[in-house]
Amino acid sequence: MDQIKRVPVTAGDYPKTWSEFLDWFSSEDACQSYLEQLRWPDGFVCPRCGSVGQAYRASRARLMCKDCRHQSSVTSGTIFDKTRTPLRAWFGAAWYLTNQKHGVSALGLQRVLGLGSYETAWTMLHRFRRAMVRFGRDGLKGRVEVDETYLALTDRVTPVSASGRKSNTTMALVAVAVEILAPKGFGRIRLRRIEEGSEEHLLPFVKDVVEPGAEVHTDGSAAYRSLTKAGYKHDRTVMLGSDVPAHTSMPGVHRVAALIQRWILGTHHGAVQPDQLDYYLDEFVFRFNRRTSRSRGLLFYRLLGQAVVTDPVTYSDVAQRQRRANIS
Ligand SMILES: [Zn+2]
Repeated sequence: MDQIKRVPVTAGDYPKTWSEFLDWFSSEDACQSYLEQLRWPDGFVCPRCGSVGQAYRASRARLMCKDCRHQSSVTSGTIFDKTRTPLRAWFGAAWYLTNQKHGVSALGLQRVLGLGSYETAWTMLHRFRRAMVRFGRDGLKGRVEVDETYLALTDRVTPVSASGRKSNTTMALVAVAVEILAPKGFGRIRLRRIEEGSEEHLLPFVKDVVEPGAEVHTDGSAAYRSLTKAGYKHDRTVMLGSDVPAHTSMPGVHRVAALIQRWILGTHHGAVQPDQLDYYLDEFVFRFNRRTSRSRGLLFYRLLGQAVVTDPVTYSDVAQRQRRANIS
């Protein structure tokens, strides 16, 4: 039994081009070594006893703690947990997801990777979307526009005839927060699906995503009346009876809302299940907030880095959540 061998890449290294990607990740072993570097940059950490830096290799994928003899693998407890899909396909998916400007649909991913089933592609994309949310990330700062917008979603799982509705298009309400830069341009964004545009839903959204002390620009809705008390500078623009169109007084929110709608219609053909919308919003935020990143390889590296610290979710987890959402 060997101790963990280190591949000759240093932490922080990532492939810059497709041909480098192919060179680096030509085998399952290479992918596994790369994940080990990402997950344990300072050496193996036993998930059971917390012992650091010591492991036997029980087999190619199995690592055994020297202290408590617990066996684990680099993928256990990550989004790759118990997957039957080769790591090379996962890496290919991460590369494709981060190198396509607008991302990829499950059908597109199934085709490009030659995956056996649509469900496999769909589950991979959903697991990566979960990894796209970085916990403990900084709140928005400076001047921030906050508003709600409706997105049109098409429910393709429930046929029109079965649902008894004339249309299977759902309007989903989404809270949008956008940093406004001076003299012009937009910074980072945050999004959340909300049930209604009331204080009960909008105030917690602002508190969760905007740093205290920031200047929050909203319309005249009563939902925002407590912002000053909550520690924000509140700039209200009352729209009612005003001649100023929304895209002039709230340019950031207006622009972002149009981009999300276009992305859902374009990349995903409008076919986003309403109760899955939050995952798609997470992906959109990940892309938007990194839109000026010069290196797509760096995005790939960041996504894999988050993937090895994100809990696994299975297809049945997601489907169950969907059923629960339909019941409640
Ligand atoms: Zn241990």
